[in-house]
Amino acid sequence: MRNSLASIADRKFCEGVKYSDQQLRADRRAAHPDIVGFGRLLVWRMRRLNVPMFESTVWRTMDDQQAAYVLGHSKAKPGESPHNFGMAVDVIHGVRGWDLSRAQWSIIGHVGKELAAQRGLRLTWGGDWKFYDPAHWELHGWRHRLEATAEKERLALRGLLLPPT
Ligand SMILES: [Zn+2]
Repeated sequence: MRNSLASIADRKFCEGVKYSDQQLRADRRAAHPDIVGFGRLLVWRMRRLNVPMFESTVWRTMDDQQAAYVLGHSKAKPGESPHNFGMAVDVIHGVRGWDLSRAQWSIIGHVGKELAAQRGLRLTWGGDWKFYDPAHWELHGWRHRLEATAEKERLALRGLLLPPT
């Protein structure tokens, strides 16, 4: 465990400009606050361990989802991914991207689950899926949550729905 953590740590990179730039990359506007907060928490906690991580994707537009589906990068059609509703975050390594071993991803998964439990956030980790997607974290039961008025208001900010009356 300690060796694996050391193997993904890069303190120098964490202190550099590229790391700072990466932190601003994902489109988080009107994303679900639990997802935005969790992404930040996980990145900060890993940063304290000198591991550079960043949120590569929060929102994925319907057009981008269609492209990802056609290319086989995603199994989800437009509207089938929680990223299409700002309800998921992909957190990847600043230097290596997705190119980590299962043992290395499991450290990040463990840290993320611990943070979620501490904050009472109900999240699902893609590293637990058969379709292994260890960068991915999503709100548990996100499809059902779309029915809530607060979610409709949030989605209206992105032009995905008309504001509720
Ligand atoms: Zn994802």
